Amino acid sequence: MDKVPKLLVMIDGKEGEGPASITYVSLAGALWRGTKTFLLAFFGGLIVFPVPLLHIFGVLLLLASPFAGVMVVIKSYGLVQGMAGEFNCPHCAAANAMEYQEGNAPFYGSCSHCRNPYQVFPKA
Ligand SMILES: [Zn+2]
Repeated sequence: MDKVPKLLVMIDGKEGEGPASITYVSLAGALWRGTKTFLLAFFGGLIVFPVPLLHIFGVLLLLASPFAGVMVVIKSYGLVQGMAGEFNCPHCAAANAMEYQEGNAPFYGSCSHCRNPYQVFPKA
């Protein structure tokens, strides 16, 4: 996936743009997350496995661990890992800066000046 140098902001039905730096979760990063999830579930299952009443949960965790790992890889690949940018509010034209660590677009916030809620998307 290419790095996208712009953001798209929407306030009150009005659109604006601004410069942004956006990083996405790479395939290697997604594979690493999936591996961590798999190992956590697998060893969690191994620890719980010999406990009499929790035995069934251990079995379920062991059985589910590879699928959980694969799901995490699929879900996290291409996810926005970090996004920072600036824009002028389309409503009141005040300068805004935004920064998000991780998650799925859109990101929410409110204008520092007019307090209108905005949605920010990475612009493709
Ligand atoms: Zn504003």
